[in-house]
Amino acid sequence: MPFTKDPLQPTLQRILAPYFWPILIVILVLLSSVSGYNYLYQRASITEQHKHSLEESMTSKLAFTEQVLVNSFQHIEDSVRLLAKSDKLIEYIENPTLENKFYVEKQWALLAQASGNYRHLKLVDIDGYEKIRIDYDSEINQAQPANELINKSQHNFMMLANNVNEDETALIVFDLEKQNNQIRAPYRLMGRTLSPVVISGERKGYVVLNLKMDTIASLFDAQLNTLKIPLEVVAESGHFIRSKEPSHQYGHMISERNKYNLNQSHPTLWRTVSQHQLGIEEIDGDLFAFRWVQLGTDTRILSPDSDQILLLSRISEADILAATQAQILTINQAWIGRGIFIFITSLMLAFVMRYLLTQYKVQKLMLTAMCQMSSVMLMDTKGKVIGVNHAFEGMTGYNVDDICGYKPSMLFVEGLSRAKLEEAINNALTENGFWHGEVSCKLPDQSISSLWMEVSAIRLRSKYTKYYVASFVDITERTKREQELVSLSTQDPLTGISNRRQFDVTLTQLEKTARRYPSASFCLALLDLDYFKQVNDVYGHTTGDNVLKSFAKLITSQLREQDIFARIGGEEFAIIMPFTSIQEATSVCERLRLSTTQLTLDPQITVSIGIANYQAKLSANELYERADKALYQAKALGRNRVRFEDITAAKKRSKLPSPSFDIGM
Ligand code: GH3
Ligand code: MG
Ligand code: MG
Repeated sequence: MPFTKDPLQPTLQRILAPYFWPILIVILVLLSSVSGYNYLYQRASITEQHKHSLEESMTSKLAFTEQVLVNSFQHIEDSVRLLAKSDKLIEYIENPTLENKFYVEKQWALLAQASGNYRHLKLVDIDGYEKIRIDYDSEINQAQPANELINKSQHNFMMLANNVNEDETALIVFDLEKQNNQIRAPYRLMGRTLSPVVISGERKGYVVLNLKMDTIASLFDAQLNTLKIPLEVVAESGHFIRSKEPSHQYGHMISERNKYNLNQSHPTLWRTVSQHQLGIEEIDGDLFAFRWVQLGTDTRILSPDSDQILLLSRISEADILAATQAQILTINQAWIGRGIFIFITSLMLAFVMRYLLTQYKVQKLMLTAMCQMSSVMLMDTKGKVIGVNHAFEGMTGYNVDDICGYKPSMLFVEGLSRAKLEEAINNALTENGFWHGEVSCKLPDQSISSLWMEVSAIRLRSKYTKYYVASFVDITERTKREQELVSLSTQDPLTGISNRRQFDVTLTQLEKTARRYPSASFCLALLDLDYFKQVNDVYGHTTGDNVLKSFAKLITSQLREQDIFARIGGEEFAIIMPFTSIQEATSVCERLRLSTTQLTLDPQITVSIGIANYQAKLSANELYERADKALYQAKALGRNRVRFEDITAAKKRSKLPSPSFDIGM
């Protein structure tokens, strides 16, 4: 049969089978991509989050530092102004007695000790000569008037002082300590602030405070410690006042360090900071936070040549990565775990799909091979249908889709329950891997067909059964013919009742039973139509035949179900009546005789009947002979009558002949 349609049920496994490898690869690629993307996303977001928190932290620290710086310088500015306007000082300038000088010195010494921020407090006249000077030694916390006063007129600071207006203060911050006008090594930061002393509109001199910058420096150090981020201070010129590289500091004052400039080392950053007051900038992965700080309000900043400084903190990319390393390590481990999981899952998936695919291929192969054969059904180990071929569909009218997945309940054996049938088949299959037999099949149109079924177990190189294959041959026609043959061999073709052979078989069987079980006695009646030859002669053979049929029909209709009625010769019939006494048999036969006479036929017929009852040890032939004898007597006595021989009575009378009775006309 041509293989036009796939004989297997369309399952998911079947549909997916040809796409096994592409599906597997797509799944793998998808899982890996999702996982990989997820990994990169997580990694990036960890770094981003860290950067974000760093940015916030840097910004707030810079703002705080600015606040502290501004306050500090404001305090310095206020102090120098107050000193320049103090009554004691003015009194001394107007009246420079030793006593007045003493008061000023005392006041300043106390201030120096209380503050701790000043190295020297001086009064210089407008020509630059020191008039009063208090030196403060921070190590012993003592402030005392200097014995020797110095001419500072040549000092650049004094030269700048002339440019300061009355309502201004001047400030030199982030200066370096000098000795004899030479920068002293090791370099130490210092600052100076100055306020003009004006009495009655006339400039009389200046109050000059030499500032210890240690406090300011420690402020930066404190930021460094808490933030763990280097805080750098840059002048408006781009030179480092404070740098993570100490050798790069003070480029604004030390000519050989002039090259260390933020403008040159980070031009991109410098462009940004030149345009903004504050901000965050990421350059090549490094993170920079910056903030310009205004130093004083009415202060002229004389060094480093501007009134604002840049606070800058930076974190290198390496430091950011190092800080996120632990978290990244965790997601790395998670990712490796996921990778292993994906790999194992894919492997298992591959095995399962491969197994299903092989199974499918085997099933398909088997059915393809079987399609060349007769009707075939493939079943799993539970007896459920996996597939059938077209020959089966054509033979039974069942569609593969209707029966797949179910047990073949349309197959049955008459008189055998389904469970019993399955048990019988299973036992045979277990024992020798094969079963065959005749089964009935209920077709979709509810008609029944007979099938010859052969079931084999298929093991496929395994010791366990994998499938069952059943092949079918439709034997409905053959069975019908067999039944016809059987009926032909046992039936009389003219009348349709049992024939002589069937009569002989039945009589012999009953005789055997009765011989074994004496209670199972029965009677035999022989019937012979009277003068039937004449019927034929007068009316013809066909009429004779019809008379015979009518007679048989009449007798059949009047007999009990268990009685056996047979045509044993041309116009001779016999009735075997099981479990019947001779009296009962006689009365039945008399009724039959009577109804024969009443049969409305042309010609009218009559019948003569001879009856004998079975008795122990009598053979079938003997019984027949006795009945025949009774019939003969009925004929002899004039026909149309019933004669019987009671063998029991005859035996009782010992050797006397059996009594015979005549009933009828
Ligand atoms: P008797 O009363 O003594 O029995 O007389 P009879 O004529 O019935 O007996 P006989 O034995 O002389 O004749 C039997 C006849 O039955 C002979 C034959 O013509 C007829 N006969 C036998 N078989 C058939 C048959 O199949 N069809 C027909 N139409 N007649 C048959
Ligand atoms: Mg006869
Ligand atoms: Mg006759």
